[in-house]
Amino acid sequence: MMYAKVIVDVAAAQTNRAFDYRIPEEFDGIVKPGMRIVVPFGPRKIQGFVWKITDQTELSRVKPLQEILDPYPVLTNELLELGEWLALETVCFLITAYQSMIPSAIRAKPKKILRPAGDPAELPAELQPLFAETKEINWEQAAAGKEIRLALKKALQNEELIIDYRLQDRTKKKTVRVLRLPSFGPTKDYKTELGNKAKKQTEVMNWISSYYPNTSVAAQTVMKQLGVTQGVIQSLVKKGLLLEEYREIYRDPYEHHSFSETERPLLTDQQKQVLQPIHTAVEKREYVPFLLHGVTGSGKTEVYLRAIETVLDKGKEAIVLVPEISLTPQMVERFKERFGSQVAVLHSALSSGEKYDEWRKVHRKEVKVAVGARSAVFAPFENLGIVIIDEEHEGSYKQEDHPRYHARQVALWRGNYHGCPVILGSATPSLESYARASRNVYQLLELPGRVNNTAMPDVEITDMREELKQGNRSAFSRLLLEKIRDRLNKGEQIVLFLNRRGYSTFVMCRNCGYTSACPHCEITLTYHHTGRLLKCHYCGYHEPMVNKCPECDSDHIRFFGTGTQKVQEEITQLLPEARVIRMDVDTTSRKGSHEKLLQSFRNEEADILLGTQMIAKGLDFPKITLVGVLAADTMLHLPDFRAPERTFQLLTQVSGRAGRDKLRGEVVVQTYTPEHYSIQYARTHDFQAFAQAEMGQRKRGGYPPYYYITLLTVSHENAAKAMKTVDQMAAHLKTALSPESKILGPTVSPIARIKDRYRYQCMIKYKNEPDLIRILNDMHSNYQKEMAKEDLTISIDMEPQMFM
Ligand code: ADP
Ligand code: ZN
Ligand code: ZN
Repeated sequence: MMYAKVIVDVAAAQTNRAFDYRIPEEFDGIVKPGMRIVVPFGPRKIQGFVWKITDQTELSRVKPLQEILDPYPVLTNELLELGEWLALETVCFLITAYQSMIPSAIRAKPKKILRPAGDPAELPAELQPLFAETKEINWEQAAAGKEIRLALKKALQNEELIIDYRLQDRTKKKTVRVLRLPSFGPTKDYKTELGNKAKKQTEVMNWISSYYPNTSVAAQTVMKQLGVTQGVIQSLVKKGLLLEEYREIYRDPYEHHSFSETERPLLTDQQKQVLQPIHTAVEKREYVPFLLHGVTGSGKTEVYLRAIETVLDKGKEAIVLVPEISLTPQMVERFKERFGSQVAVLHSALSSGEKYDEWRKVHRKEVKVAVGARSAVFAPFENLGIVIIDEEHEGSYKQEDHPRYHARQVALWRGNYHGCPVILGSATPSLESYARASRNVYQLLELPGRVNNTAMPDVEITDMREELKQGNRSAFSRLLLEKIRDRLNKGEQIVLFLNRRGYSTFVMCRNCGYTSACPHCEITLTYHHTGRLLKCHYCGYHEPMVNKCPECDSDHIRFFGTGTQKVQEEITQLLPEARVIRMDVDTTSRKGSHEKLLQSFRNEEADILLGTQMIAKGLDFPKITLVGVLAADTMLHLPDFRAPERTFQLLTQVSGRAGRDKLRGEVVVQTYTPEHYSIQYARTHDFQAFAQAEMGQRKRGGYPPYYYITLLTVSHENAAKAMKTVDQMAAHLKTALSPESKILGPTVSPIARIKDRYRYQCMIKYKNEPDLIRILNDMHSNYQKEMAKEDLTISIDMEPQMFM
């Protein structure tokens, strides 16, 4: 007798282990680890993952598993193992770890469709009637009787039948309507049948017979090419002159693009040098973590492309992670150009159906390269030859929800598992990675100069305090304005960057000081021009913009802070001739709008690109010769120890957009704190000096990479309950951990309330706590009952990137 050990789909401490189920005879040999199945659980039937298969159980009575949801495992053995590690390391339930590794679309229950593998006449006699009038049948309907069910399963096992899992509703596989001649060839004399009245119909028949005598053609194509209506085609179908079918296609999010085979540039000596140890690691199947530190425009992407070529030559697969991929369409294009249909693109801007299709290409081994955002690190390749993380310092690689994993940590685990290199690339590596490279935990590779020796742009800093003293209240310093005018005259392009965080528009009454705040969260509402709404960025609450102060009735209610809209208005006033494209959450919310705006800027339909964070990355336009950073300090003063690092990274990123081609680039950084080291070292493009200064700060403050940090946040509707719980936890940790470790707090979280829940936190700083993971996991399970019964939330974040 065989048993399946199953991880059931109930995220709770009591169910955070494998449950045994008997494998009924009919499923013998079909059930495999990594498949999703349905099992009886108490009175319910629930889903779960098969974790292991064994011939032993300690239970005396074992229930049989109910049904199989997947024709083949959705999790590989490697991912099953990775999930165990991840659940432990990030203090989450196994099921949560596994669910995060598969696309959301396949978590929905699929419909099972059966069809004969070959000629239906060759099926066992008892099954033949099922396919007499149809090519495929629905499992649920067909398998009503026990005998027929067994026969179907047997046929499946013998591969006489094929099973397809179709998702219902929006994640349906996409189909196209195609037309063809009834027997592929002009059997019927359509000319006689149509006579000479049905001119359009004859035209369609002529066209299809001459161009598509032996294959089918999409109905859309016919209609477009010949300018005929749906009605014309329908009449032909009715007459039996054309056959109509639906064919499954993959949704290709890039179908409107044409990707050309690009010529590979000759590598620079620098590029050759850094590629060598990478090639060696691929060759020797060795796990080597590399940190590729290369200035902006140094040709890191070309290094990735060549490394992947080597991997593909070896018949292996590659994963490339890029941050918020929808913001870096140029990057995706380069991979598509080089590797064509071998690439699947997995990112969050795709619909869940599109994501599912792309994931299936990986799963079915139809592609060899997966390019995607954070979760693409789980791409189910089984023969991985390299993992690449571009812009490895980016905060978006950390998932802020269960499981709170960092893609870097998963990438390294997989590299180690497969014995392959992992490349972490950046112009501004995180201090954690840089420190690891200095201790030779990672092998450091450097590209210190730009391709073709293009100079780094000149960066000038303007002191906005001086401007104010001189009576300039505009968002533009005189220097920046002068340089913008100069570029407009020369017909060159300009990028203006406005950091949104801490800088968005909020509303305040000048009379009484009232500010509009979210009624559910401790946070001010942000004004959005579209719809004239005040919105909460945490819970989505919104209300209409007011004209009078709700407190004192005064009409002196004004916007504060400079949003991109306000800046745009100011540019229009100051420089009416300038053509401006604005890119922010408001102008890019519709799918594809981001790419359209960029394309139009690339086509030089505008002089100025004005935007938020989203324009900082990946832009590579030769005509940009001026970059203006309107307010460099907005990020510097956030209550986060990484604020200087983020500021340096951002300034480096945006400056990197200037002068990437033959024209020399210039950058103007406006700031109220020109003396700050992150601004000064960004000016001189000196990462090493910045890193050194920042390491000093971290050491003094006791922050990473000198200490590890774990953040514990407790939230509850009742403030006292949340506080009491976090106090208990902190007290417990104080006794359980070594005296060298520090426990800060408990205190109120920086955002004290979100969605009507009060939030308290405490922070653990430690150097060496080998038992910490176990202690935290135990503590987490001990609070299980309260979490379930009293709606208490405890979140444990092992390497927090945000401290809100
Ligand atoms: P990074 O990713 O380091 O910012 P990129 O890989 O985007 O740099 O390279 C910058 C520019 O230089 C791109 O336009 C790229 O096509 C080009 N490039 C890269 N390597 C070479 C090379 N060896 N020869 C010529 N051009 C190159
Ligand atoms: Zn007021
Ligand atoms: Zn809110």
